[in-house]
Amino acid sequence: MNNLAAMLVIRERLREHLLPQHAPRRRQGEYSGGCLCDGCGERITSAQASYNVDFEPGVTPQSLRLHRECLEIWLYECQSPRFPQLT
Ligand SMILES: [Zn+2]
Repeated sequence: MNNLAAMLVIRERLREHLLPQHAPRRRQGEYSGGCLCDGCGERITSAQASYNVDFEPGVTPQSLRLHRECLEIWLYECQSPRFPQLT
């Protein structure tokens, strides 16, 4: 999946509130792989850098696993000013 495709999926998930728009409390990089990315939905392989992201209590979901690229896209999209206008 290329970055543009990932961006469109992440944007859609933000719009559907499947991804939080809260600032992460903690993020930790890792190379374990083996699960699905909460951003683009593709499998994270052990060759790909990924991040475990945690949120404050009360935020749903409580944590995300993301490719490094998807983390960057998600953070960028969260800051995008167009989201408050979209419902
Ligand atoms: Zn991803």
